[in-house]
Amino acid sequence: MSVGTELLLGEITDTNAQYISARLREIGVSVYRRETLGDNRSRLTGAFREALGRASLVIATGGLGPTDDDVTAECLAAALGLPLEFHEGAWEDMLEWYRVRGRTPSPGDRKQAMIIGGGIPFRNKVGTAPGQAILTGGKLACVLPGPPREMIPMFEEHLVPLIQSTFTDLVPLYIKNLKLTGIPEVKVGEMIRDLMDSANPTVAPYAGRGEIRIRIAAGSEDLAEARKMVAQVADEVKSRLRDYIYGEDDDTLESAVGEIMSRRGLSIATAESVTGGLVAHRLTNVPGSSRYFKMGMVAYSPAIKATCLGVPDEAIWKDEAVNEETAVSMASGVRTLAGAKIGLATTGFAGPTGGTEKEPVGTVYVAVSDEDGTEVERFIYTGSRRDVKEYGAGRALYVLWRRLKRSRRKPQGSKEGSGQ
Ligand code: ATP
Ligand code: MG
Repeated sequence: MSVGTELLLGEITDTNAQYISARLREIGVSVYRRETLGDNRSRLTGAFREALGRASLVIATGGLGPTDDDVTAECLAAALGLPLEFHEGAWEDMLEWYRVRGRTPSPGDRKQAMIIGGGIPFRNKVGTAPGQAILTGGKLACVLPGPPREMIPMFEEHLVPLIQSTFTDLVPLYIKNLKLTGIPEVKVGEMIRDLMDSANPTVAPYAGRGEIRIRIAAGSEDLAEARKMVAQVADEVKSRLRDYIYGEDDDTLESAVGEIMSRRGLSIATAESVTGGLVAHRLTNVPGSSRYFKMGMVAYSPAIKATCLGVPDEAIWKDEAVNEETAVSMASGVRTLAGAKIGLATTGFAGPTGGTEKEPVGTVYVAVSDEDGTEVERFIYTGSRRDVKEYGAGRALYVLWRRLKRSRRKPQGSKEGSGQ
């Protein structure tokens, strides 16, 4: 149950329900119903009563705060016919939270330490409101805070173990995700169609921004057996799509290129126009990226492209610096400027207005430069300004990843030519 009037009115997106549903499925709980409710005592109490009549596990998020419209715990207590009691331990945890931050609680905060009689408080490491759970008549009911950054750690650290110890017949899913880039979703579908017919393990592709994730999931009481089933299918998928798979599970395109650059002692510098620093942002999202990321420059004005990166005048004035030559000179220019092994550059038109006859809105040039030369590619994206920037940044990382992979395969001593 997602509780909060702002959710009901469509003012915020309910990401808690999505997160919790997906995780419950993974640990083997069948999710049968989801609902959204406002902060209303009688409707919320009624909804808890109905839910407890249907299901053996009921989870609500939101409405645990100190204000008067935060009534979730109170309504769950009412639905169960149990009292709310001041919990000394939960209050101590809250005092500690305030002490560490050099702050003092306000009187209204005591309300958050009210726990359903016989219930278990869940300590909140991120915020003040504890969550709580109560096991009664073979049913487990619990309430978690609304803010996802408080809800998620509490769900993982407290609720998942409690669910697993309460319901001992759960059959968890073992899941592996393969991450792909540089190939359209339809193509992936064609390549693995036969595998997608399988019921256990299930195989399904999910498309993101220029990237695809193939999720392989197997359910078995025997975890080793589930792992084996997943590994077999994963090997088959890898053998068919090897050229596009950059990683698994938590790997990102930026962590994949980072790993290659670290291992090979490479370094990189970026010069971005259309992507406005997104490529540098993504590269530096990777812990340890200081080992290979030397500098990132957002070169927006023609004068900067010319003076700082050495883009020749002809290129600057052609199609407002959205062309192959500009991208190439930016990549090699920033590489020289930073003394890096690799230079990566983007130039294009993010829109919504502008562009030229030859280079319409949505055009993005990506160039990557290294000691073997420079390669450049042109793409055209549709969508909002932000879409074009994000797709462009993703494509730049893909072009870099592909270049790194190709240069690894290259026989020693061979040269690819000095660019285009
Ligand atoms: P607080 O102590 O911050 O008031 P709370 O447990 O009372 O926490 P709410 O007041 O219901 O939670 O929600 C606080 C904020 O948490 C919301 O404004 C919203 O940003 C976020 N939030 C709440 N529920 C959800 C949800 N289902 N999905 C995503 N975000 C949510
Ligand atoms: Mg609140």
